[in-house]
Amino acid sequence: AQADIGVTGLAVMGANLARNFARNGYTVALHNRTAQKTHDLMSAHGDDGEFVATESLKELVDSLKAPRRVLIMVKAGAPVDAVIDQLVDLLDDGDIIIDAGNSHYEDTRRREAALAEKGLHFVGVGVSGGEEGALNGPAIMPGGSRESYVALGPLLESISADFEGEPCCAWIGPDGAGHYVKMVHNGIEYADMQVIGEAYDLLRQVGGLEPREQAGVFRAWNETELASYLIEITAEVLEQVDAATGQPLVDVIVDEAGQKGTGRWTAISGLDVGSPIGAIAESVFARSLSSQRAVRDAASSVLVSGTENVQIADVGAFVEDVRLALYASKLVSYAQGLDMLRAAASEYGWPLDIGTIASVWRDGCIIRADLLDDIMRAFGGRDTTRHPEPGTTSADQPANLLFAPFFAEAIGAAVPAWRRVVSVASAAGVPIPVFSSALSYYDGLRQERLPAALTQGLRDYFGAHTYRRVDREGTFHTLWSGDRTEVEA
Ligand code: NDP
Repeated sequence: AQADIGVTGLAVMGANLARNFARNGYTVALHNRTAQKTHDLMSAHGDDGEFVATESLKELVDSLKAPRRVLIMVKAGAPVDAVIDQLVDLLDDGDIIIDAGNSHYEDTRRREAALAEKGLHFVGVGVSGGEEGALNGPAIMPGGSRESYVALGPLLESISADFEGEPCCAWIGPDGAGHYVKMVHNGIEYADMQVIGEAYDLLRQVGGLEPREQAGVFRAWNETELASYLIEITAEVLEQVDAATGQPLVDVIVDEAGQKGTGRWTAISGLDVGSPIGAIAESVFARSLSSQRAVRDAASSVLVSGTENVQIADVGAFVEDVRLALYASKLVSYAQGLDMLRAAASEYGWPLDIGTIASVWRDGCIIRADLLDDIMRAFGGRDTTRHPEPGTTSADQPANLLFAPFFAEAIGAAVPAWRRVVSVASAAGVPIPVFSSALSYYDGLRQERLPAALTQGLRDYFGAHTYRRVDREGTFHTLWSGDRTEVEA
């Protein structure tokens, strides 16, 4: 037995992770259900490093040093269970099964519990960065027991991206915490892309800027606090000209956005843990609306616009307003995603540290952005030994991202522009589900009194759900169908 780690599932992601391990000096045992993929990888990239090609899971397991580390990178869902079932009988106490695919965190929790009973470690690992990241350095979010991280962490940290010398990998928390944090990363990614889309739409429909001109705008924005991978590639996509028609590529792409499910999972979990993640949910809904082609076609001949003719006197000033609205909305979607992590930590008993999580997202993943370094700082920096009580933040961390002095000031400076943009978009009839819902979240947080008081009154009226009073302790009910006096419930 000489291999440091085994990888089973050698489609693009597994093959690239295996090569990444090998390039970092580890001996990697390879396996795929269909052996041809193993042979193809060996012949194309066998000289990337030390590989042991195997034809069966037994051979794979037999080739590994103890404690054995087997990384599964097969299609998420039933295939993961099928591979685990085969591995269980081949492994010994203390061995580690790693699932680095996009598994649902509830599946990971279930698998971890079942394997712990058999004396095996099960580590669900979130990996972000696509094919290219898997090969050259992804962001890595490992869950599972802290003990398993002792044996696994050094390998993962050596293949992850690094940000100024710090690995974009850290132990996240027990059982499904790693896959959960990856899921929320993807939810934030949906929101990031949606706010970019809203900015583009406003610059086009209201500002009159063609895609090519906008490429320059986004490139300039990439030199500001918006600097990020997604802003950078927005400029690339907007600049692209379609060879067949000579039009901007963006104009020949069908305007229906697909989704593979992690955004939906995030929205569902936000509802489950009671976290107000409107900006993220609206991003998922925006994709769903885009895909309702038949309804959209029908609507355009039925629904009137009621818009005003909006004239933009100073396009440069408008562009700057949109930039600030994008930044503010982006901050809200991060604030919501991080708040959701706190709520989930409480629900599932995970000692999540937001500063460390933000540090992992600084490079390698799709949402990598200069902003994440600021977020990390706002939450007390990267400290892999800091494990706050589940559902709390430690004393040096803000309760909400927007309360951190740096961000309170930043969003405060952006808010007048943000309000102007939401007004203009509304008058012009341009849909901005995230710009507007994020602003409502901001205003909702700020209000001293919310109309929730009336909601409670109504709930008490029709369902005797009771209410609390602002002026004294206790729970009360008004006898609505009687003499309308108040009684203590
Ligand atoms: P796929 O999701 O396309 O899965 C193909 C692999 O699964 C093949 O190796 C296939 O084996 C194997 N497989 C399927 N069913 C079984 C089974 N019942 N038993 C054993 N093996 C099986 O591969 P990808 O590389 O695209 O993705 C792998 C994982 O990574 C997925 O969870 C995916 O969601 C995630 N992913 C993550 C990305 C990221 O950026 N983090 C990007 C893309 C994917 P065979 O060759 O024999 O058919």
